[in-house]
Amino acid sequence: MAHPSHWTSNGGRPIGGRTIVFDLDGVIADASHRQHFLAAERSSDKDWDGFFNACVDDPVIEQGRRLVGSISDDFCVVILTARIHETRAKTVAWLSANGVRHDWLILRGHHQGVPSTEWKREQLEHLEEAGAVIELALDDDPRNIAMLRDLGLTATYIHSGYYDDRDYDAEFR
Ligand SMILES: [Mg+2]
Repeated sequence: MAHPSHWTSNGGRPIGGRTIVFDLDGVIADASHRQHFLAAERSSDKDWDGFFNACVDDPVIEQGRRLVGSISDDFCVVILTARIHETRAKTVAWLSANGVRHDWLILRGHHQGVPSTEWKREQLEHLEEAGAVIELALDDDPRNIAMLRDLGLTATYIHSGYYDDRDYDAEFR
């Protein structure tokens, strides 16, 4: 099945069939040490390059790694992250170094400057078009959980704390 060029295979398993989707930052990668790059209130004032480039120093979240590692081979595991495409080599190396089980890695492609929740929604729809039956998705961003449930998907919220001081509804916690 054809897939967008910014999707990265790990091991050659085709997309399709029973699928579980994991977010990366705040679920498997501990990005707490680089949240300060995003302290500015306005998005245009945030140091996004600093934030993404520091991802090489993320400790692994052991619970997340063990959880994704426990998923049976019956499922295709997709890591769906709004990290920018420029972090691809660093992210692939980090996943490998930390032994994170996954079949596909989806990072933002070039020029995909839409808000991350909107971008993730598009990727999930592409996955379903490609034959994926998404049985579960895990994310630490409340906006993504709301979007997943809006799509009719089963979503599990993982608390990272990165979004605690952001101003939006979090009634599902
Ligand atoms: Mg996250």
